Amino acid sequence: DCAAPVAVALDGADLPAGSGLPRGFGLPDDAFAHDGQITRRMVRAMTLAALAPRAGEVLWDIGGGSGSVSVEWCLNGGSAICLEPRADRITHIRANIAAFGLTRMQTVHGRAPEALGGLPAPDAIFVGGGADAALFAALPAARITANAVTLETEALLTTLHAARGGSLTRIGLQEAGPLGRSRGWTPARSITQWSWP
Ligand code: SAH
Repeated sequence: DCAAPVAVALDGADLPAGSGLPRGFGLPDDAFAHDGQITRRMVRAMTLAALAPRAGEVLWDIGGGSGSVSVEWCLNGGSAICLEPRADRITHIRANIAAFGLTRMQTVHGRAPEALGGLPAPDAIFVGGGADAALFAALPAARITANAVTLETEALLTTLHAARGGSLTRIGLQEAGPLGRSRGWTPARSITQWSWP
């Protein structure tokens, strides 16, 4: 963890042409300083696809963690406000802002929904942490994408989908890993994603 972003791009000899950090969504997890609490590459790619960044748009990234969602939003032309209550994670987010050279991404050290007052109006909102009914009730009109890993948050997103519509998607990923002398599929916890509209 906490690898400098350029390391992943430049490490190793005899890389094939075009190695390095690409445009688009789903940079490697190790491209970011993080403590393990990060939206993983494939889920992040699907999250960014749902958020649909456009040049000049503002994202609220609620539960910023490492800031990886905000970074990819900004790399795709937007600006982002990354809200995170934990000071150690704010440090990671700031490291990532610096390492990616982003000027359109800022941090807010605080907790939703209290810390949302007074922020510039968003075009899109990602809820990656702090999801509860009070938070969703407090959100201004914007495109919304929220990811749930717990049953409790999933139940909330299921209710929101019934009340407001949008799309509800379950993301189940498995990656090949060692299983004895062979390989087997290692499942990740499934994610339920609500995206509106
Ligand atoms: N998308 C992030 C990972 C999010 S993990 C990434 O890619 O790195 C969820 C985060 O939500 C945690 O860092 C946690 O501290 C934060 N969080 C929890 N409750 C919150 C609240 N009420 N408001 C804002 N953030 C919150």
